[in-house]
Amino acid sequence: TVSVILFTSDLRVHDQPALAAAVREADEVVPLFVLDRGVRRSGFDAPNRLAFLADSLTALDEELRERGGRLVLRTGDVAEQVGRVVTETGARTVHLAAGVSAYARRREDRLRAGLSGLRCGLRVHEGVITVVPPGAVTPANRDHFAVFTPYFRRWAEVAPRRVLAAPRSLTVPELPGHPLPRRRSVTGTAPALARGGEREGRERLRRWLARDLDGYAEHHDDLPGDATSRLSPHLHFGTLSAAELVQRARGRGGPGAQAFVRQLAWRDFHHQVLAARPDAAHADYRPRGDRWRGDEREIAAWKEGRTGCPVVDAGMRQLRHEGWMHNRARLLTASYLTKTLYTDWRVGARHFLELLVDGDIADNQLNWQWVAGTGTDTRPGRVLSPLAQARRFDPHGAYVRRWVPELADLGDREIHSPETLDPARRARLGYPDPLIDPAEGRARFRRARGLD
Ligand code: FAD
Repeated sequence: TVSVILFTSDLRVHDQPALAAAVREADEVVPLFVLDRGVRRSGFDAPNRLAFLADSLTALDEELRERGGRLVLRTGDVAEQVGRVVTETGARTVHLAAGVSAYARRREDRLRAGLSGLRCGLRVHEGVITVVPPGAVTPANRDHFAVFTPYFRRWAEVAPRRVLAAPRSLTVPELPGHPLPRRRSVTGTAPALARGGEREGRERLRRWLARDLDGYAEHHDDLPGDATSRLSPHLHFGTLSAAELVQRARGRGGPGAQAFVRQLAWRDFHHQVLAARPDAAHADYRPRGDRWRGDEREIAAWKEGRTGCPVVDAGMRQLRHEGWMHNRARLLTASYLTKTLYTDWRVGARHFLELLVDGDIADNQLNWQWVAGTGTDTRPGRVLSPLAQARRFDPHGAYVRRWVPELADLGDREIHSPETLDPARRARLGYPDPLIDPAEGRARFRRARGLD
């Protein structure tokens, strides 16, 4: 018998339930990835993610070859291509990880419909992408949790599934495929983009567990310390398994591990919200009657990291340079756009998705909504003060100095508020004046929401 495993956001061989089931149940397995026309048309294959994907496909192919197999790549419409492979091989089952986005759901439906005519079944595996499958824990009388803390309490009680070893060997039938995409052929990527691939991810995980996990609770908000795991792109592409991360962190124990596991639960939380409310990718989860402003000059300054608010500009420039941004900086830059400038969260979410290597529909859109107060934040009216946040999380200005070199020579006290310098000194910096006084922005936002 032949089975197909269609890889999507699960580009790994370790702890890969869909691959394990295919190898266990069939004599021959087709490890298939489709460079899907639908995904490409949606613009979701922005250069940073496409480059990381190329690395990850190359690495997956290597892992499979070490086990006697290889990755088969096709391009085109996903349902059509899977149908072709099934016809070519006489496969009886296609294995697929359950997805949460509207696109993933539609893909499942289309595959199921197409395959039934070919006498081939579709097996959708839960718990491949998230630790706890969406819908596995629910509050009384609702299909999902809208608040994180009670979700987390129930999430933490769920018995973990067994973490699986990589298959030892597999046999792939003869069939044609396209050459794998290569990272070097992707243009327009961020200068300091991380490398993708399962081996790279596992190495980063090993170092993280050994060196930094213990200090995570204390240092995860420290902007210049950069003391978070940076595993997010590996989780997005599934080159690491979230379930395995939780198991290994719990195995170590301590406050760092606890705090890290809690962050991974945030990822599951957003996935279960999106699974229940796929429209929340675009529509307000909790509409507030916002009449967002949309000042093109301000939006452009925000994107370029030239708002005149140093910590915000530092975050935006890190995003452009690395295709990644520290979580605290994401919170600050998003709050600045949506609340201080009172600009529609969708504008910011779109820009993040163009650049973030970990850009993810569930995590990006729902974090943006959380910050904008249209999502699951239980205090939607709070507005972060960029100055207070900068003084707290970048007390000596080292993060700003790293990303905003115009300000590198300023002292610790003045670096977060260069607008207070005398005009002659300010003029020499070549750094823009603030777009707005944050206190004014805050007042405007709260008035607009009817909060004051
Ligand atoms: P760590 O601190 O090491 O955390 C470990 C893992 O936990 C992360 O890799 C991530 O998978 C998960 N995690 C941590 N915080 C969150 C969170 N708030 N929501 C969901 N998962 C979380 N994360 C993405 O993966 N993709 C996105 O597109 C994305 N967009 C965001 C947009 C905004 C406006 C904000 C405020 C946050 C966004 N996040 C997103 C969440 C978070 O900022 C990143 O997951 C984190 O910065 C990644 O760095 P890390 O791997 O070092 O995180």
